[in-house]
Amino acid sequence: MNEKRPFSEESPENAATASGLDFVRSIIAEDNRTGKHGGNVHTRFPPEPNGYLHIGHAKSICLNFGVASENGGMCNLRFDDTNPVKEDVEYVDSIQEDVHWLGFDWEDRLFYASDYFERLYALAEKLICMGKAYVDALSADEIREYRGTLTEPGRESPWRNRSIEENLDLFRRMRKGEFADGELVLRAKIDMASPNVIMRDPTLYRIRRARHHRTGDAWCIYPMYDFTHCISDSIEGITHSICTLEFENNRELYDWILDTLGLFHPQQIEFARLNLNYTVLSKRKLIQLVKEKHVSGWDDPRMPTLSGLRRRGCPPEAIRDFCSRIGVSKADSVVDIGLLEFCMREALNKTSPRVMAVLDPIKVVVENYPAGQVEWFDMPYQPEDESKGTRKVPFTRELYIERDDFMEHPVKKFHRLAPGQEVRLRYAYYITCKDVVKDEAGNIVELRCEYDPQSKGGGTADGRKVKGTLHWVSAAHAIAAEVRLYDTLFTVENPNACAEGATFLDYLNPRSLVTVTGMLEPSLAAATPGTRVQFERLGYFCADPDSRPNAPVFNRTVSLKDSWAKIVKKEA
Ligand code: ATP
Ligand code: MG
Repeated sequence: MNEKRPFSEESPENAATASGLDFVRSIIAEDNRTGKHGGNVHTRFPPEPNGYLHIGHAKSICLNFGVASENGGMCNLRFDDTNPVKEDVEYVDSIQEDVHWLGFDWEDRLFYASDYFERLYALAEKLICMGKAYVDALSADEIREYRGTLTEPGRESPWRNRSIEENLDLFRRMRKGEFADGELVLRAKIDMASPNVIMRDPTLYRIRRARHHRTGDAWCIYPMYDFTHCISDSIEGITHSICTLEFENNRELYDWILDTLGLFHPQQIEFARLNLNYTVLSKRKLIQLVKEKHVSGWDDPRMPTLSGLRRRGCPPEAIRDFCSRIGVSKADSVVDIGLLEFCMREALNKTSPRVMAVLDPIKVVVENYPAGQVEWFDMPYQPEDESKGTRKVPFTRELYIERDDFMEHPVKKFHRLAPGQEVRLRYAYYITCKDVVKDEAGNIVELRCEYDPQSKGGGTADGRKVKGTLHWVSAAHAIAAEVRLYDTLFTVENPNACAEGATFLDYLNPRSLVTVTGMLEPSLAAATPGTRVQFERLGYFCADPDSRPNAPVFNRTVSLKDSWAKIVKKEA
């Protein structure tokens, strides 16, 4: 069995230890010090291809690939594909794409548990021959009933003491397809009175006539996860088998199978899974959102999937940064989605060109500017970094500015446009509002302004200061774009905790997607999908795959400031 670890299971070891390492990295450092695996570190990321990867998986990917590379080791990608009913090649493909996108590489070490089916079968026969496994004819319900409870021991199946010969014969005939689905199972013969319910003769194989996405119809019996996982780890020479806390009780079985069969024994280490507020990370729920079309697909930018985050415009380095900030511990917690947004801003701020777009336009007519005249201003993509270059932006007599950058009766400290008030139009001119044009219903439809020709470029010779600088777009040159503004998918912090009679779907946020028509500066006409920019003063945006030439579609990745948290507070 395993030696005791340098930390105790009970200790609240969190985030980092005195060495500055989290508890997983401390274990590995200690193993390297003692030479436990000859200094080798070999991990794996083992998804089941029954859904798309989400931000929780990213935590596991960053951990597994991260500790391997930090220690000069290797990390495999292994599909845990033992349940053909729920699995699909679509998922196999998307998972590979997402791991690569996140920035990790398994090189030539792409494996499938299904590649080990023959060896797993042979090892199951070996257990039978050792008298450590038997073929049971109890039904699934009976097995459950015989298993007992946390407080009561289980009862032994009447089939538990078949002879080795009989077990071997039945198991071979199970494989040949002589029995119906569910008629027989192979169980480990361990201990029906074990305080650990998982050790009460767990099922190792079941009959299931389902076509497997890789092995086709070659098999009608499939190994269970617990049997498959430890042996796959062992076959691949995994040194540290890192998994999430719900497998803590399974570790005893993991150890039993490998020790009983006398196989190479990796160390299973459990860490707390990521929970994120205002979203769900259960694959079952994510599948339901997609299948029932509550979202547009797995890559809907509101989804916590890696493909959704990618489409939204989140750069992979933001996710890696997020995973490193949340750390690794054994204590369950819920991370605020605001931290992920913070990481997005951090990454995007450094890399996104700044451009101008008006999302809620109101027209400005510069009365003293010649009709038909166009001035092209050179504007830097990154004011602090000249090397990022410039683009030309046209200034004309008719412009758009943001509706809420104007107030007819300005409140105190409103430094933007108001009657008689002067502001700077970014990199262009100072303008002063002279008049407000309204429709019959009293809505403001146009602002009549005058510009100061002396203020070209955004400053004046007399040193006159203005307090507000607004972004703007020339009306004649504006590119109309569909702009998709996202909010959290759910209105409550924990959609998993439902009131009686409710489901998580009852907490879907009806305003999680608001689509507006924005007016963009002309340089964005041909933005290709995936192009990330900052719309000045508004936020970070990314061109969607739905974009067409001259008809771009932009997703808001994240606003500039944490306006969302403020809104939530205001409404509360
Ligand atoms: P399932 O219920 O289908 O098993 P799963 O979320 O565990 O769902 P897997 O494909 O088995 O999905 O996950 C692959 C790996 O990612 C596992 O090692 C799992 O522990 C880890 N993982 C899954 N969800 C999270 C999460 N929220 N935080 C951290 N790791 C996770
Ligand atoms: Mg799992």
